[in-house]
Amino acid sequence: MPKTFLYARVSSEEQRKDGYSLPKQVKKLKAYAKAMNLEADVELLEDESAKDGRNRKLFNKMLKEIQDSVGQEYIILCEKVDRLQRNFEDAQEIDELVKEGKLTIHFSDDVPHLYDRTANSHTKLMFGFKTLLAKFYIDLLREECIKGTDEKVAQGGWHSIAPIGYRNNKILRTVEVDNEVIGNHDETRAELVKQFFELYASGKYDVRRLAKEMASRGLVSKHGNPVGKSCIANALKNPFFYGIVTHPRTKELIPGLHSAIVNKKLWDKCQTARQQKTAYKHSRRMYKFRDIFKCSYCGCSIIGEPKRKKLKDGGVREHIYYHCSYGSPKLGRNCPQPWWKEQRLEELVLMSLKDVFADDFILDFLRKDMDMAFEKEQEFIEAEKKRLNTEYSRNEKQMKQLYIDKNAHVIPVAWFMEEFGKLRDRQEAIREELSRLDEEIEEFMEKGMVAIELGNDLENQYLSSDMENKNNLLKILYRTVKIDESGLDISWSPGWDELVKLKEIELGQRLDRDFGKMVDGRGLEPPASAVRTLRSPN
Ligand SMILES: [Zn+2]
Repeated sequence: MPKTFLYARVSSEEQRKDGYSLPKQVKKLKAYAKAMNLEADVELLEDESAKDGRNRKLFNKMLKEIQDSVGQEYIILCEKVDRLQRNFEDAQEIDELVKEGKLTIHFSDDVPHLYDRTANSHTKLMFGFKTLLAKFYIDLLREECIKGTDEKVAQGGWHSIAPIGYRNNKILRTVEVDNEVIGNHDETRAELVKQFFELYASGKYDVRRLAKEMASRGLVSKHGNPVGKSCIANALKNPFFYGIVTHPRTKELIPGLHSAIVNKKLWDKCQTARQQKTAYKHSRRMYKFRDIFKCSYCGCSIIGEPKRKKLKDGGVREHIYYHCSYGSPKLGRNCPQPWWKEQRLEELVLMSLKDVFADDFILDFLRKDMDMAFEKEQEFIEAEKKRLNTEYSRNEKQMKQLYIDKNAHVIPVAWFMEEFGKLRDRQEAIREELSRLDEEIEEFMEKGMVAIELGNDLENQYLSSDMENKNNLLKILYRTVKIDESGLDISWSPGWDELVKLKEIELGQRLDRDFGKMVDGRGLEPPASAVRTLRSPN
């Protein structure tokens, strides 16, 4: 019998929003478990807003138990991929356990719902790519997946939740200035937002101090919680506040339909202050390939080091070299790892990106594979819809009966109101759930394709990124990379390893096909060198 964990997680930021609370997650998971005939042996509820919850104690404990066990199979019930993993390392460890056959994961609210050893390529890709979605490309891809976003933004509209100081007008579908009075001196939320821009522009505050100061001035979110560091940091760099909408994909700046809270001059001042602060923060030198490569000989990190060369005209040219940290001169060069020029490493990296390039063959394969996964998913969703529809009509009948009973004075009015209200709320929830299921199936296709297209464009993504994002991208793609004279030995991250495998299959099939032609004596001619070897036995 597999041991089943029910795992729910809520971060401190989400805790403040509706729909993300732990009890809600648990309720959903239990309903899902019931539908799937599963029963949780252990419930793990991770509340990261709790003081000691930040390091995800329960998650780590669960992972360790599974890793250490022998001969025991496990099931994790979880809401979404991003509940389960926050770091890329988490994804890799989980992925390994699944591939070993030790672990099966059910996602109650994500597609695909089931992730186990028998998962097809598309499911594995989805798992890998969702991790990616959850981290690096989260904004970019999410925006790309929202239909009609482009159009809305092109007209200066806003496409998602209003930033602090603004609120969504759900009826007009616009964003307006939030004039709710909340400050200690009767300031509106928008006025308090303007204050933090002013304070930051003075250069005397970093974001942490600013958050503290604003909390003391009474700035709270719509849910009544103090506004966090990340919210303020994001606001400070968002041109939205001086009336500009950023296109999520092209990054083009478009005059917005909303009112500005600060003027451009103040916003610019904040950007200058921000740049000065980040320059200070990054005084530890950033290298493009920091923490990317490991030495094949000794397993140590490959670290960057600048070498300056004086030029004849008196100038200085700098080259970046990488070498094994154990082989550094300080340690007496104890490792045979050669020194690498950054340019050479970059060439190798770019070559490796070609391995995860999804060409037409792969795309075709993935589409077919996805169709199959799609059918499976559709079956699941149809069953779910049927269940909900049955409940819906049962509730309808009950509501009718209640109505009749009330009119016949069989039941007291107060009782009627309460019961009728409950059922009405439930009906609304069912209708929402049904439309979500319809969206889900669309999302399954769309997100899959967006992720695949990304695989089609990695090289450009890499080349057009700045140094820090290049580093991030590589960290996401590579699980580990060992290096020595023979080049890179890459183990790819979940999802990407699947692409590489597919490419190998493709290559094998091409070779088989070409070999077949050779044997048939039709089509392809064997290469001249092969012919010569065959014909000269003596
Ligand atoms: Zn070494």
